[in-house]
Amino acid sequence: MAKTTKRPYPEYAISQLTSKHKLVSLWRLMKGYQLHYIGATAFLAISAFARSGIYIFLGKFVDDVLGAGLVGRELVLAALQFSGLVLLQALSIFMSGWLASFTAESSTRRLRDYLFDHIQHLSYAYHAEAKTGDLLERASSDVDTIRRFLADQAIGVGRIILLFAINFTAIARINLQLAGISVVIVPIVLVVSILFFQRLSKAYEAYQEQEAVLSTNLQENLSGVRVVKAFARQAYEMEKYEKNNLEKLRRGYKLNTMHSLFWPISDMVCAAQQIASNFIAATMVMDGVITLGSLITFNGLLGWLIWPIRNLGRLIVDTSRALVSFGRISQVLQTPEEDLTECTYQPEGSVRGEIRFDNVSFEYEKDRPVLDGVSFECKAGQVVALLGSTGSGKTSLVNLLPRFYDVTSGRILLDGTNLNDYSRAYLRSQIGIVEQEPFLFSCTIRDNITYGLQTEVSQAEVEQAAREAAIHDVITGFAEGYDTMVGERGVTLSGGQKQRVAIARALLLNPRILILDDSTSSVDMETEVQIRTALEKLMVARTTFIIAHRVQSILSADLILVFDQGHIVQSGTHEQLLAQPGIYRQIYDIQTRIDSALQEELDRVDLL
Ligand code: ATP
Ligand code: MG
Repeated sequence: MAKTTKRPYPEYAISQLTSKHKLVSLWRLMKGYQLHYIGATAFLAISAFARSGIYIFLGKFVDDVLGAGLVGRELVLAALQFSGLVLLQALSIFMSGWLASFTAESSTRRLRDYLFDHIQHLSYAYHAEAKTGDLLERASSDVDTIRRFLADQAIGVGRIILLFAINFTAIARINLQLAGISVVIVPIVLVVSILFFQRLSKAYEAYQEQEAVLSTNLQENLSGVRVVKAFARQAYEMEKYEKNNLEKLRRGYKLNTMHSLFWPISDMVCAAQQIASNFIAATMVMDGVITLGSLITFNGLLGWLIWPIRNLGRLIVDTSRALVSFGRISQVLQTPEEDLTECTYQPEGSVRGEIRFDNVSFEYEKDRPVLDGVSFECKAGQVVALLGSTGSGKTSLVNLLPRFYDVTSGRILLDGTNLNDYSRAYLRSQIGIVEQEPFLFSCTIRDNITYGLQTEVSQAEVEQAAREAAIHDVITGFAEGYDTMVGERGVTLSGGQKQRVAIARALLLNPRILILDDSTSSVDMETEVQIRTALEKLMVARTTFIIAHRVQSILSADLILVFDQGHIVQSGTHEQLLAQPGIYRQIYDIQTRIDSALQEELDRVDLL
């Protein structure tokens, strides 16, 4: 049965999020939360009105209540009105922030899910090329930039425009001349702040870049710590790290200097403007043009007129940064997914496993063939062994079977049907793979063995598979047995142990076609014999491709293919190949000589 994959957000077709206009895509991303967002903006407007109302009220209070010398009832009433406004202002700020962050969190959760899901469905070839660090960055830091944009900046722009419009109108209603004076400085502040934040943004990007360099440096060092130690390269590594670290300091220093210059300077400019405006307003009061209350109102409103403008520069730049981040995410989303089911050929039940390579050539990069004119065939249930020097194309050949890559020319027939006609999902459900360097997840050994199974399996079945893979005794040797955690939070398995867990995993899947990529390369001789015996049982009734470096592992294969630089140079059974001169006999001779020398040595030690 073909594996079916459940997609978390099918309603989000890629086209929805990859509109030419990024803002449109972002708006679509908020589907289901758009009303919340409009609500957030509405509360923002209320808070802006309430804030201006507070200053207007203060002015009126000074003029009407204090100026007229009223006390008692009016005073209490005024206090109540004032408190009401303050409360309204605070409440609507809270509501607006709450709604905006709800929208931001929910939308970016969706974006993360969608991105992750999409990444799962990108082709093997894409992942072979893509830099993991870069993808990580896009799926985490870029998504977070979008979150901040939705929570603060998108709504912040609205807030600033509202504050400006409301406060400007309110001042204009007091006195037109004052309104004119208060905005004289606005264009200057705006232009300077945009220019400044543009430069700041560049400095910030440079800083971030360096941070990425430094963390890649650290990550590589940690993953390669064994190499570093083995080659005693600590001093060299330290020097490299120190250099990168110093560069980060330099960039961080520049960034902070810019920050600490901008705010005080713009504070000073704005303060000067405020003093000058207040001075003019004060003379107006003296001349009786405006009242004392109006002066107080004006003073309050003015602060909220200038402040937002300074922030506007930052917001515009932050917004452009968010759009860049969204562009980087869209790029991943626009990469076409690997189509798992595009081909309709999906036979009932399992394949038989008869395979024929018909003049197959394959290249990763144009005009650099990795396989060249490969032809052979095997019957269902046979064992095909691939032997050859490193880089000769063995792994590349087996990667063609589950259609991780498609042939460049020629064709592969499975049960007489072209492989390209099978859906990838179906093919992969028929093929079990033990990779050259198996990967285990950081979960329990049991979960690692049952990974990929569509149905529940009993503990007895898991143990049976582990026994066949000669790993059961190792597992029961751990204090927590099959519940032992693997990886960072648990035990570290050796290369050979990992391979055997991977073999157990492939066994449980019970596939018709089995691929063993050098599965006995990192085990000792004794375990190799154990695994080989297990594998021999396993290979019965399955078409098996086994890649081996040791001739001893493949003596009983039905067909041995000897590879050299992408060509089959010899093929046949062990007996046939041994009977003819060629690479195979040479390798066999060398390896048996080494083995018997080793055996003699062991016998000698035993005798002592
Ligand atoms: P080994 O015994 O060391 O595992 P192999 O026979 O399995 O070697 P392949 O992994 O098939 O060799 O590689 C064959 C050639 O293809 C090599 O020259 C390698 O550099 C190249 N190659 C492998 N994978 C890729 C890739 N993803 N992109 C480009 N070239 C690749
Ligand atoms: Mg290989």
